[in-house]
Amino acid sequence: MKRKTNIAIDGPAGAGKSTVAKMVAEQLSYLYIDTGAMYRALTYSALKSSIDPKDGRKLWELLDKISIRLKPTSSGTLVYVNDEEVTEEIRSSEVTNTVSIVASHEEVRIEMVKQQQKMAESGGTVMDGRDIGTHVLPHADVKVFLTASVEERAKRRHEENIQKGFPSDLDKLKEEIARRDELDSNREFAPLQQASDAVVIDSTHMSIPDVVENILHLVEERF
Ligand code: C5P
Repeated sequence: MKRKTNIAIDGPAGAGKSTVAKMVAEQLSYLYIDTGAMYRALTYSALKSSIDPKDGRKLWELLDKISIRLKPTSSGTLVYVNDEEVTEEIRSSEVTNTVSIVASHEEVRIEMVKQQQKMAESGGTVMDGRDIGTHVLPHADVKVFLTASVEERAKRRHEENIQKGFPSDLDKLKEEIARRDELDSNREFAPLQQASDAVVIDSTHMSIPDVVENILHLVEERF
């Protein structure tokens, strides 16, 4: 491969984007950027400051005041709000069930997109999210829309929770995922949408390594 490009991976909650994006980044020695973690960090911060997740203006002011950083390490990306490490905290169910409301505000998204574009300025990133191929990196050389059925996505989360020893309820997970899909796909500004030039990969019946191989193949094809 001659030059370093940016790779955009979008799709609904629980489709395996982050696992796949991490593996693709590792194979290519690229930087993995988890944009969902940035919206989660803002949500965590808002909850801590008792800011109403429906108040876009207040959230925008908060975002202006704090610094959200993603720090790559050999054991994964660490997430910071100012100097506080919040990697674990941003995965709580309170954050998960509030983040789509926080992410629905236009003013919040405009600022987040600016920060994300800056991170990808020099190329060599694999970025995952909901609007990467459509808004953040509309000129990315490789765009993937990764999806899977709601049942399969909920099942994967359920198994992951059990493996980690967390309590888990499959039906509740299904409901939460469907609700997040609904909010993310129907918001007015920059909804979850497949870019017209994205390649759709339905991972319902595919293994993670197969999805990774498919994406690496796409990257090779483009260069
Ligand atoms: O990727 P993850 O599931 O952690 O994202 C959490 C939430 O952040 C999504 O459900 C969505 O509401 C929001 N998000 C977004 N745009 C992105 C990434 C995430 O709106 N690029």
